[in-house]
Amino acid sequence: MKILILGSGVIGTTSAYFLAKEGHEVTVVDRQNNVALETSHANAGQLSYVMSSPWAAPGIPIKALKWTFSKHPPLVINPYFDIKKIKFIYQMLKNCNHKSYMINKTRMLRISNYSKQCLNELESETNIDYEQRKKGLLQVLRTDKQIAETRKDIAVLDKFKVKYNILDIDGCIAKEPGLRHVKDKIAGGLYFGGDQTGNCFLFTNELQKKCIEMGVKFEFGVNIEKLNLKNKEISGIETDRGELTSDKYLVTLGSYSPQLLSPIGINIPVYPVKGYSVTLPIVNEEDAPQSTLLDETYKVAITRLGDKVRVAGTAELTGHNLDLREKSRATIRHSFGDLFPLAADMKSDDEFWTGLRPMTPDGPPIIGKTPYPNLYLNTGHGTLGWTMSAGSGKLIADIISNNEPKISLEGIEMSRYLPAN
Ligand SMILES: Cc1cc2nc3c(=O)[nH]c(=O)nc-3n(C[C@H](O)[C@H](O)[C@H](O)COP(=O)(O)OP(=O)(O)OC[C@H]3O[C@@H](n4cnc5c(N)ncnc54)[C@H](O)[C@@H]3O)c2cc1C
Repeated sequence: MKILILGSGVIGTTSAYFLAKEGHEVTVVDRQNNVALETSHANAGQLSYVMSSPWAAPGIPIKALKWTFSKHPPLVINPYFDIKKIKFIYQMLKNCNHKSYMINKTRMLRISNYSKQCLNELESETNIDYEQRKKGLLQVLRTDKQIAETRKDIAVLDKFKVKYNILDIDGCIAKEPGLRHVKDKIAGGLYFGGDQTGNCFLFTNELQKKCIEMGVKFEFGVNIEKLNLKNKEISGIETDRGELTSDKYLVTLGSYSPQLLSPIGINIPVYPVKGYSVTLPIVNEEDAPQSTLLDETYKVAITRLGDKVRVAGTAELTGHNLDLREKSRATIRHSFGDLFPLAADMKSDDEFWTGLRPMTPDGPPIIGKTPYPNLYLNTGHGTLGWTMSAGSGKLIADIISNNEPKISLEGIEMSRYLPAN
């Protein structure tokens, strides 16, 4: 069967790999001139299985209010009027209660844990190198108040059988020796040994090579403008290079998915939540991060990727705007320089980047069928698209191929947003 994949980010490319494995004739189209040049380009690199949690959590509305007065706010809501943004915030607030949080977290953990298994299998099948490290994730707590708050969250971790270690200052330094210079700035940490790291851009590029070997075609520099309909099915996609046709169509356009889908009556609540990263070369190996850390104070992720460090964070609600905001760069650099003062040359230039997380208000992605029998979705992965990519690719390949999915689709399909009958 011919399958046309719209979008060659990490989600489109993993989908292509698993669909090609099922024996389909796969073509991937994208407006860029290579894979992973938009949100999948320079993310934080965390493969954070156990930390897969919705942002919509109890207590977030109060925290969000406090952040507006902070010097280095992790959340920035641009004040211009945008009905889509208001709708997204409203739907997110509706999920900021214990019951919804537990439901959404369960759904996210289901797809993340499956993804870990699928990535391990993919890795042993392909042998690809993507600067992967399997050394866990350290959540750095800087104050006693954060430790007390974290103790409350531990009940949730226990409920989901997540393995963790509570570390004191020396325990944190044992995991990340570079922290020994800032003993007075940390209070302790939570360590998740099962989490991993890797370079998402490198992974997607290496996987693309495997896909090409398997017969997948990539067509770049193609701007997709519209989905054409005939007899209640997709008859083709209109592009700036003319119409492209196929038997089945899979939308993996990240934050741009709703723009293409809403004209044909599919309204999915995916909103672009902007984030930033800086990438710096390591100058002192013994003072550098060894794996990945989450600085709880600034909500900044710090990840070692090869001989560089990637530091990423901030959530900005500002539509599809891709301007680089200097204040966010300052926040990210501050968090890193404060914890690892000797790892990199902080006076040197960094690679400053921004990307739009395709967020759903409840947290889980949207994977599966649509009301059109030959149109499928694999989108809305928000903050965790890299973590969830392998599992999402395998899941959609099974759905399209009419195989029994290996995990339940409950709460992952778009049907969760349709009004109950
Ligand atoms: C700062 C930051 C840090 C992050 N850190 C992590 C992390 O540590 N771990 C993690 O798991 N996730 C992380 N994420 C999230 C992760 O990067 C995303 O969820 C993931 O990259 C989304 O992949 P995607 O393939 O859906 O979207 P994209 O990578 O954006 O791919 C969509 C593709 O569609 C193409 N496209 C869109 N519109 C059109 C059109 N009209 N015509 C043709 N082509 C089109 C684009 O060119 C693009 O290639 C982070 C995100 C950000 C912003």
